[in-house]
Amino acid sequence: MKNSPFDQLFSLRGRVAAVTGANTGIGRGMAEALAAAGADIAAVGRSDPSDTLAAVKALGRRAAWIKADFGARPDYAAVIKEIVDKLGGLHVLVNNAGTIRRNNSIDFTEADWDAVMDVNLKSVFFLSQAAARHMIPSGGGKIINIASMLSFQGGIRVPSYTASKSGIAGLTKILANEWAVSGINVNAIAPGYIATNNTAALQADVKRNAEILARIPSGRWGDPKDLGGAAVFLASSASDYVQGIVLPVDGGWLAR
Ligand code: NAP
Repeated sequence: MKNSPFDQLFSLRGRVAAVTGANTGIGRGMAEALAAAGADIAAVGRSDPSDTLAAVKALGRRAAWIKADFGARPDYAAVIKEIVDKLGGLHVLVNNAGTIRRNNSIDFTEADWDAVMDVNLKSVFFLSQAAARHMIPSGGGKIINIASMLSFQGGIRVPSYTASKSGIAGLTKILANEWAVSGINVNAIAPGYIATNNTAALQADVKRNAEILARIPSGRWGDPKDLGGAAVFLASSASDYVQGIVLPVDGGWLAR
C-alpha cells in the first residue's frame, strides 16, 4: 500500500525521544506510542523501566535507561549527554515524571511542598534548559510537558501539586515564547483522570471514585494509552506551528 502524506507528517522515524518516568503509567503509555510512530526511546528515571524497554524493542526501536532521580538534584547536562551518547541525538523531550502529596493545606508541611515542586516543576525547567542547549545548535526539537486538570482548576488537599501543575502551564508558555524562534516547540498535555499509581488512592475511595466518574462525559477513567495520540501529534511535524498550548486529554472533564 502506498504511504499517504499523513504518514510522513506524524512519523517519528529517525528521532530520539526522551520520556521521564517511563517505567509505568502515563509515561510508559506515551513511550510506547512514540516508539510505534518510529522513535527510539530514552527512558529517564529512577526505577528500572525493563518492561517499557522490552515493549519498545518489540516494536523494532532502540531503547535505553538513563538513570536520574529528580528529587535529588541530578546533573541535568549529564543526563542529556548520556541520552545523546547512547542513542545518537535528542529530538523530543517529554517531561512526564511527577509526584503528589495529599494533606489539608492547614497542615501541609514544607517537606511535602519541596518534594513535589522539585520533581514536578524545578526539574522540568532545568532538564528542558539542558535539552534546549543541545536542541538549539542541532536545529530544534519538541518539548512536551505533562500538566493536569489542576493547571486549570484548584483541586483540594493537594496544594503543592496544584502549584506545580499551574506552574507547568506558565513555564510551557514562557519557554515557547523564548525558544520557538530556535525551532523548538514547547507544549503541554493535560491528562484528565487516568488510572495509574498516581490516582490509586482516588480509585480506591468509593465515594470519590463515583463522584469523579459521574463528571466525566466519556463515562470512564482514562487509560495511559489514551495519551498516545496527543503525544505523537506534539512530537511530530504535524504540530510545527503549535506553540505554548496546554492540550486537555480528559474525556470531556473540563467541558462539564
Ligand atoms: P505514576 O504511575 O505514579 O508515574 C509517575 C512517574 O514519575 C513514575 O515513573 C515515577 O517513578 C516518576 N517519578 C516520581 N518521582 C520521581 C523522581 N524523584 N525521580 C524520577 N522519577 C520520578 O503516575 P502517572 O499518573 O503515570 O503520572 C505521570 C504524570 O502525569 C505526572 O506528571 C502526573 O502528575 C501526571 N498526571 C497524571 C494524572 C492521572 O490521572 N494519573 C492526571 C494528570 C496528570 P517511580 O516509579 O520510580 O516512582
